Formats: sequence, structure tokens, C-alpha cells
Amino acid sequence: MKLDRAAKQFGASVAVQDISLEIKEGERLVVLGPSGSGKTTLLRLMAGLEVPNAGSVTMDGRDVADIPAYERDIAFMFQEPALWQHMTLWKNVAFGASDRSAASLSELFELAGLSGLEKRRPDEVSGGQAQRASLLRALASGKSTILLDEPFAHIDDDRQAQIIELIDSRIKGSGAALVVASHDPELPEMLGASVLNLRVG
Ligand code: ADP
Ligand code: MG
Repeated sequence: MKLDRAAKQFGASVAVQDISLEIKEGERLVVLGPSGSGKTTLLRLMAGLEVPNAGSVTMDGRDVADIPAYERDIAFMFQEPALWQHMTLWKNVAFGASDRSAASLSELFELAGLSGLEKRRPDEVSGGQAQRASLLRALASGKSTILLDEPFAHIDDDRQAQIIELIDSRIKGSGAALVVASHDPELPEMLGASVLNLRVG
């Protein structure tokens, strides 16, 4: 994934200004900044969900927004859990998983502290549990680039270390590139990631 002077404005307001970076498989980046600094917009540009007004966002030389969604080798976990409401948590995670074996999925549920909730639907669990299921879906996807937008927003503090461990072990195993948006200045060190600092305005 490569950004070359990528910028995005909405009307007169500049959300992302002149960002150049490259992230390769096995590399980790934390996009750090306060609310309104453009973290979500930057991740949406990387996911091909927004088209830059200037500059480019490419994967293997192709504009990501031009790559059909089904072909895009990118998983995106939204800031607000986006699960299919009519499906159980298990089916939500299994749907796009690269390894759909019961053993592999059970292990993920266990590591995320979601064992026993597999058959619940998203509206039958707490916001934190839904966010953990949403995280599992991204981590299970087997995609080569994983984008996580504020993955700890709804997660209790006493569970954060467990979830960092889960992200770390899965990413280590898959060799994917990881980009995490956060406002927590301690996260880059905890994830062994480099940092991109964004500011408001
Ligand atoms: P963050 O995720 O760091 O809170 P955002 O990327 O959500 O930052 O927002 C950055 C700026 O872009 C904010 O000023 C926000 O209001 C604006 N913005 C984001 N998305 C839109 C949109 N779809 N339409 C208009 N303005 C937007
Ligand atoms: Mg955001």
C-alpha cells in the first residue's frame, strides 16, 4: 500500500493533507491523532472507500478505489461495529474467514474472550463484545492489509492487553500489513508499530 501526497477534502474542509507513506507486508503503523484529525478519512482512503482529491493511494501500482471491492486485498474494521444483524457472531466471523474450520474459529473466539457467545446475534451482546467480534472478522479475513479504526473504542480497559496480544499474534502469524487508528499515544509501543501523527486542521 502506497500513498503519494494523498489528500482529501470535504467541501472547503481539509480532512487529510498531503500524506505520503508506504506500508509493506509485515509492517505496522499507528495513525495517531485527536478526534477530527482525519484518521478515519485516511483509513477510508486506504480501503478505497474514499477517492483522494489529490495524490494517489495504490496497491501494487493500482489505485485502490479502482480495484473491485471483492478483489481488494484489504480488511477494514469500522470504528462502530458493523456486523450483519441477522447473523450470529459465529457466522459474522466465519463468512469472510480464510480458514473456516471450527477449531480455528473457536480459538479466535476464545482469544477474544467471546467463548459462549458464538450463537448470539449482534443485538444480543454488549457494544464491546460486538466490537471484538468485528475485530475477529477483520483478523480472520486472511487479507494482506488489515485496517483497524479505533479498535479499543468500546473495549474495557482491563481487556485491552488481551486484545493487543490477539492482534499481535494474528498479524505475526499472517505477515499482513497492519494500520491502526488511535488516539492512545502508548499504542505504537504496545504494538511495536511506527507512528504517523495527525493534527486537527
Ligand atoms: P478522526 O477519525 O480523526 O476523528 P475524521 O477523518 O473522521 O477524523 O474527520 C476529519 C475531518 O473531516 C473532520 O473535520 C470531519 O468533520 C471531516 N469529515 C469526515 N468525513 C466527512 C464527510 N463525509 N463529509 C464532510 N466532512 C467530513
Ligand atoms: Mg475516526
